[in-house]
Amino acid sequence: MSSLVKNYNRRKIAFKKGRGSFLYSTNGKKYLDFVQGIAVNSLGHSNPYLTRAINEQSKKVWHVSNAFIIPEGERLAKRLSQKTFADYVIFQNSGAEATEAAIKVARRYFYSKGKPNKNRILCIKNSFHGRTIAAIFASGSKKMTEGFGPKVGYGFDHFDFGNHKSLKKAITNKTAAIMIEPVMGEGGIKAIPDWCLRELRHICNKKKILLILDEVQCGVGRSGNFFAFESSKVKPDIVPIAKGIGGGFPIGAVLMTKKVAHAMVPGTHGSTFGGNPLAMSVGNAVLDQIFKKGFLKNVKKISKYFFNELNNLKNDYPKLIKEVRGVGLLIGLQLFNDQKKFIQKLENNKLLTIRAAENVVRILPPLNVKKSEINLALKIIRKVCKEYK
Ligand SMILES: *Cc1c(COP(=O)(O)O)cnc(C)c1O
Repeated sequence: MSSLVKNYNRRKIAFKKGRGSFLYSTNGKKYLDFVQGIAVNSLGHSNPYLTRAINEQSKKVWHVSNAFIIPEGERLAKRLSQKTFADYVIFQNSGAEATEAAIKVARRYFYSKGKPNKNRILCIKNSFHGRTIAAIFASGSKKMTEGFGPKVGYGFDHFDFGNHKSLKKAITNKTAAIMIEPVMGEGGIKAIPDWCLRELRHICNKKKILLILDEVQCGVGRSGNFFAFESSKVKPDIVPIAKGIGGGFPIGAVLMTKKVAHAMVPGTHGSTFGGNPLAMSVGNAVLDQIFKKGFLKNVKKISKYFFNELNNLKNDYPKLIKEVRGVGLLIGLQLFNDQKKFIQKLENNKLLTIRAAENVVRILPPLNVKKSEINLALKIIRKVCKEYK
């Protein structure tokens, strides 16, 4: 009997070892892991380069307080700002912490401008920004907030996905920021089109609202660009990231422009563990790989191949697969019916995937996945489609 709280519906499977794209279960089975901790292990399991980085840092210093300078964090922040829109970075330990810090930055920015009442955050209804109290109310999903009231006072408004009228109606002079995921992960791998992001930026400029793009799941190379929003050429004000940046080590971060960063004066935010040397060394090692020449180009190339093949599969099974969604290696196979049985059958055939909303089977290979591994996954998915008919 487990002594863990039953807040998860766990699958009856445990692992003793992981290597690259594969996981080895405690009962001796080998699985192709296209969950990768939900887009966390961006370089696969037990990546030798990351293992070396964490081992070496562990012999030097694990943790010091943010009361002191942490050179590894200085370096990671510098590299992130040099490669992206950002001027400054705050480090956290998780995605929800990063989205919450993003909200704090937005509110504090208007406070520092003498507009403390411009503090409401506008999000997509039924989106996902994490599981802390503020983040669940940001998500605006009944399922996540039920039983965790009080419902008022958190300062979030919502609009419907894809409904521009509802968006415009929801904006008031109290709106401080619009926060959305460029590709909704938990929400069913729904990408916001580039032209929508540009229009959103335009609205934000006109109404003097900040644009927060939550790249916790779709960021750090997952889309084939470092950030998913890059293809739109839009410049956000604040971008929380997490999952992929640690390659399996918990790291969150908020990237921002200097305009908003100036509001975060000493004492406005902090984290005991955020930005510790161990985490920062791993983050730097992840960037060493992702910033390597040709790395992201390869993600795009293999993604194109995978999408092509999945679309062929969709054409072969038009009554089963409704749509192949996503971008880069953030892929959703939307079925016409509930996807639970399909995911179970994939698992029986040694391919691990995970659900998302709207009957979507989420497929998240590591970013350094091999073509032969994609082919193996395709073979298994095709077999399961066949059995399904
Ligand atoms: C996973 C996720 C979060 C929350 O991250 P945690 O590390 O679980 O707190 C926030 N936003 C998005 C878009 C996510 O996918």
